[in-house]
Amino acid sequence: MRSGEVCITLLECARNPFHKAKEYAEAIPNGKHGHLPVAISYSLQPSPLSLQSNAFAMKILVIGSGGREHALAWKLRRSSDAERVFCAPGNAGTDEIAENVAIPASDLEALAGFAKENRIDLTVVGPDDPLAAGIVDLFAAEKLRAFGPTKSAARIEASKIFAKELMRAQKIPTAEARTFSDSSEALHHCERLKFPVVIKADGLALGKGVIVAPDAATARSAIDEMMNQGRFGDAGRRILIEDFLRGTECSLHALVGGSSYRLLESARDHKRALDGDQGPNTGGMGAFSPANNWNNKLESKFETEIMQPLLRGLLQEGITFRGLLYPGLIITTDGARVLEFNCRFGDPETQTLLPRMKSDLLPLLEATIDGNLSKCALEWDTRAAVTVVLASGGYPGKYETGKTISGLDDAAKVEDVQIFHAGTKRADSEVKTAGGRVLTVTALGSTLEAARARAYEAVSRIHFENCHYRRDIALGVTN
Ligand code: ATP
Repeated sequence: MRSGEVCITLLECARNPFHKAKEYAEAIPNGKHGHLPVAISYSLQPSPLSLQSNAFAMKILVIGSGGREHALAWKLRRSSDAERVFCAPGNAGTDEIAENVAIPASDLEALAGFAKENRIDLTVVGPDDPLAAGIVDLFAAEKLRAFGPTKSAARIEASKIFAKELMRAQKIPTAEARTFSDSSEALHHCERLKFPVVIKADGLALGKGVIVAPDAATARSAIDEMMNQGRFGDAGRRILIEDFLRGTECSLHALVGGSSYRLLESARDHKRALDGDQGPNTGGMGAFSPANNWNNKLESKFETEIMQPLLRGLLQEGITFRGLLYPGLIITTDGARVLEFNCRFGDPETQTLLPRMKSDLLPLLEATIDGNLSKCALEWDTRAAVTVVLASGGYPGKYETGKTISGLDDAAKVEDVQIFHAGTKRADSEVKTAGGRVLTVTALGSTLEAARARAYEAVSRIHFENCHYRRDIALGVTN
């Protein structure tokens, strides 16, 4: 059943998982019916939140355990249509605003089982891995409604070679690259190159499969590690060797509902571990929005030269993309070039963008699935946002967990600050570190500078052993 249609009988509602409580309430004059009784397993307790009666009450499951998922759960929790929000597996932060379910994001069958048993109205998939493994296809087969692309659509992120070929076919501006499935050919190719070059594993590699090689020796060792030593397993059996592009990076997020889309505000992230963009690449050490290197001219070219050809190309391949598409761009002197396509919300960009989003996220996600995005309101706070990531010492290399985190309540008192947990867990009534990236602190401000000052004030109040964060997120950037 699609948006705008109404279901007629209780029986149909019971059978049809694409039923939405809102539509059902509209079909029944006094609108009191909501859902059929919920089968509760996994020891779920009735939520105090569910006591608030809501005729449009929806149950939402967010899959993942990072800062992105905490931000998604936080934003969805604020929706007037959300009755209960679950997070699988979640973290100590989601535990405070939603109901954690102890199922890992990799256990697709168990997640589908939970959603079915608990009559979840909408599942929002955070990370790329379950999308690439086909979670949305599995949910569809079980007649469960999920936000995110199908397995074939998720290839736009899961295979850099697939994405590059599509870009080539649609003449989408991107770096020139050659594809290799034979390591000796790739090594031989190195002899002819001008450095730096970029070596990319084809598949998903936890953000570590891209090596910027300043010289031939580094390129050779990256090729050897990926193709011969199997550092990333199958993900590195095929590689791209790509021209190095100079410029500044920018993240654009688009809700894509098949042939139509809506752009979200721009953002920039800081990928390197250390100040001054030094050290190894990480999942992201901070972000800010709006991006200071983005403007209307770039945006209109981005729509005609990147977004529209991309969706056309996907449709020509028989792929309908429904979900969040996030092209990573580099702004060169010749304009925007695509570095990669992601098929899910960015982390930490989501933690930067959602506090700026004034509109209700839930109808936007619903409209993305239903392909009627044009009707949705999408309003933004004009204030800027700055997000600082607090990581465990050693990240992205080896790090210790289990450190007690203090000062969270004090930090949350800073005006217009939102703290999103990532690698945290609750133990012995304390919040402990449980991952590489531990917390993301976002602040809003009338300027980027004001937001930055608030974010760092809050960060200064949080403590855990070997805490590491960058001091230069959005430093010197004006809007
Ligand atoms: P993530 O997991 O964060 O999405 P990824 O591992 O899939 O990243 P990319 O975003 O393609 O990989 O690349 C990671 C980083 O490497 C980019 O943010 C950029 O800094 C750098 N990079 C990638 N391709 C190029 C290029 N052609 N020229 C210059 N830098 C590049």
